[in-house]
Amino acid sequence: MKLEGIHHITAITGDAPGNVDFYAGTLGLRLVKKSVNQDDPTVYHLFYSDEKGSAGADITFFEYHDARRGRAGAGMVHRIVWRIGSEEALEFWAARLSSAGVDTERGHGRLRFDDPEGLSLELRVVESNDEVLTANHPDIPNELALLGFDGVHAYSADPQASEPFLGDTMGFESKSRLEWYARGESRGSFYVYDEAPAAPGVSGAGTVHHVAWASSIEAHDHWRTRVAAANPHVTPVIDRYYFKSIYFTEPSGVLFEIATLGPGFAVDEPLESLGESLALPPNYEPLRAELEKKLTPIKNPRSVTANRT
Ligand code: ZN
Repeated sequence: MKLEGIHHITAITGDAPGNVDFYAGTLGLRLVKKSVNQDDPTVYHLFYSDEKGSAGADITFFEYHDARRGRAGAGMVHRIVWRIGSEEALEFWAARLSSAGVDTERGHGRLRFDDPEGLSLELRVVESNDEVLTANHPDIPNELALLGFDGVHAYSADPQASEPFLGDTMGFESKSRLEWYARGESRGSFYVYDEAPAAPGVSGAGTVHHVAWASSIEAHDHWRTRVAAANPHVTPVIDRYYFKSIYFTEPSGVLFEIATLGPGFAVDEPLESLGESLALPPNYEPLRAELEKKLTPIKNPRSVTANRT
């Protein structure tokens, strides 16, 4: 039983329209679902991914309107890394981000920058046999596009405390005491610890809320049993409508989720028009008119393009 790398990563934004501009505009991902936080339906939950809304490329944001900037600290993911395919792609992104007014830092085969709210992001040239997960964007040639997640960096004050859990329970392979790899049959992602800053973390805009790891639908209950043996505080299985989930913290304090590969985002709207209208889980459907009044209006760039042509 192996996890298939990262399923999705969820972060916090205080500015949904700016978030759409950056992730669907500048980075060229597809806004595949415009929904609400199932625990607080007055705020958006935005999902960006590849063309098909695949796990492995899905970054999601809870909007807390005008939320204060947070700061990553011990027990939090502090950087998200995407794969790109070549040095040529790296050149392309350095130029594209710079012309969008984003400061970048070049390293060997990598490009580091922050999103508009200070969330640390990186593009890395990676050779991999995993399926490439690209979105179509009119200004980004497919061969230069983001290809899905490579992994995440987290801050830990005591990485050693997480070793048995990551190795035995999660089934991650250890590359070193600080570097782990979740490799399944079809996909893999790294999970790396960096030394935590002295200042404690503060949750807020520009910080990661949790990272979800991918499980087959069949194995999900078994994963819950396995996690519960090590951490009795794991949640029951929660139906997130697009997938089923369990949540728990790993010993370093990072909030983990294990989510199922399916049924996926096309369960309530056609693949062609994913993310264009507000998608509500059935239990919130009666509140649609009220919720649409409370939520900041945002336009999916896809539907804007469609309207123009
Ligand atoms: Zn999640």
